[in-house]
Amino acid sequence: MKAAVFRGIGEIEVTDVPVPEPGPGEVLIKVACCGICGSDLEAFQTGMYEPGLIIGHEFAGTIGEVGPGVTGWRVGDRVVVGDLIPCGQCRACRTGNLTACENIYMIGVTHDGGMAEYVKAPAVGLHRLPEGVSMRQGALVEPLTVALHGVRRSRLKPGDRAVVMGAGPIGLLTLQCVRLAGARSVIVTEVDPTRAALASRLGATVVLNPLEDNLSVSLSELTDGLGPDVIFICTGAPEPFAEAISLVRKGGQIFLLGLPVQPVEADFFSVVMGELSIEGSLAGWAEFPAAIDLIAQGRVDVEALVSHEVPLDEGVAEWFRRLSAPGSGAVKVLVRIE
Ligand SMILES: [Zn+2]
Ligand SMILES: [Zn+2]
Repeated sequence: MKAAVFRGIGEIEVTDVPVPEPGPGEVLIKVACCGICGSDLEAFQTGMYEPGLIIGHEFAGTIGEVGPGVTGWRVGDRVVVGDLIPCGQCRACRTGNLTACENIYMIGVTHDGGMAEYVKAPAVGLHRLPEGVSMRQGALVEPLTVALHGVRRSRLKPGDRAVVMGAGPIGLLTLQCVRLAGARSVIVTEVDPTRAALASRLGATVVLNPLEDNLSVSLSELTDGLGPDVIFICTGAPEPFAEAISLVRKGGQIFLLGLPVQPVEADFFSVVMGELSIEGSLAGWAEFPAAIDLIAQGRVDVEALVSHEVPLDEGVAEWFRRLSAPGSGAVKVLVRIE
């Protein structure tokens, strides 16, 4: 089968590999489409994954084979898979802290992923896609769970004023989740004009350009001089974090959803003086059913994020290079497999 294999920093190769065989408790999934994620791009740039790994954790497909001992699933079922699958046995799992699992199984990160014709997955991580949700939409369930998990864990309350820094895929989904959570305003900051326009279309109250607008002045004006209640940082760039400390209201929260790979220098004096809270969140697990329903009900628009669809061939490697450079003009690139 064809698969996109991570070879090392700056190297992705679409090549022929054996079809995986589902073991006990596993299923084989015939993949329909798979998104390229910001964390895949970080791995491409920094080598965060093991060479030889098949990438891809944002995918949807149909079950092609059911392994021994799997019940409740059949060949042909339309599914998505949680990308962060807890073992259910370790100390962390048994105290309910599933994302701290000591034997965590992450498809496309610790185990071969779905940017391939087939992928095997533990059945415990499967979620059914209803008929009304397309495979394209299905490939965006996982990023939606990331945003949903973050907004749920944050201190955001109905009637709050929020800021979302960065209107990439996670930022645009966080924006929509913040609106669902009842914020009175959501101010988005973004430099890329395509992404900024999309943020407006998806319900941002105002979109500011940090290169042109004075964020401190604009945010103060937009929040009666108080500052926003919660700032969601949805970019891996180091500047927004340091900046957010001076922008959030006293007693407010800075919530990290982007992956800052570089250490960040920041003014922690102001964190103490302002009694700020800083928190991060990794990925969803419990949020899959809610994410699927929100898409099915049309309450979150995931289709709007798909800027490009490309076939699984050597073009994929080229897209990793394009997306790694600023100003690609792309938002979410989906790799189409069938
Ligand atoms: Zn991802
Ligand atoms: Zn565990």
